[in-house]
Amino acid sequence: MAAFIVLLGPPGVGKGTQAKILAETTKLAHVSSGDLFRENIKNQTELGRLAKSFIDKGELVPDDVTISMIRDRIARSDCEAGAILDGFPRTPAQADALENMLTEFGGEVDVVPYITAAESILVERASGRWTCREQGHIYHQTFSPPKKTGVCDMDGSELYQREDDKVETVTKRIRVYLRQTMPLVEYYRKGGKLLEIDGTQAVEQVTKELLSALNK
Ligand code: AMP
Repeated sequence: MAAFIVLLGPPGVGKGTQAKILAETTKLAHVSSGDLFRENIKNQTELGRLAKSFIDKGELVPDDVTISMIRDRIARSDCEAGAILDGFPRTPAQADALENMLTEFGGEVDVVPYITAAESILVERASGRWTCREQGHIYHQTFSPPKKTGVCDMDGSELYQREDDKVETVTKRIRVYLRQTMPLVEYYRKGGKLLEIDGTQAVEQVTKELLSALNK
């Protein structure tokens, strides 16, 4: 049965960074709802235009739009063995939809690592973040700067600050997270799938704990 890993955690906790490492290590597909929206915005699609109006305000894109985008993505052949889900689900309705999709596709949510950190750390992390235009590689101006300012080490493309990584929007996103995504923590905890990980540790240590959770 295909194994899906749901990564939970507030904005700025390092989910995206860890999801990329995990996908490389496990060879599972990396499915990031935020990256998919940003790709659509870059390509100026209808979906991108709609999503942008919510993302720039720090709000969630409506469930129906998000669910159908993820459904199309998970139906692709590179998700046959499973995937690392990064940023989806984010609401109880999305979690229900995921269960239905996986029943249909023959997969299941295997484990739900929940990466945590205090709010002050999250704001500092997200607001110092620089993202690569080409493939979304992630840097931090203080904690993990690129070798050359403004240039991605991995693919040489330009680094930019996401519009929604500005301090005011990050603060709003954290509030939205607490209200809309926190119920999922309880949902997966009750289902016995949740595994809490301290996101204030070094990147390598968080990866180590994630990998050992996946191997169980
Ligand atoms: P992220 O890159 O995961 O921080 O996502 C950036 C933004 O995309 C979020 O602040 C939301 O506006 C939107 N977004 C990403 N994933 C979802 C989701 N599962 N449901 C609704 N909106 C989402």
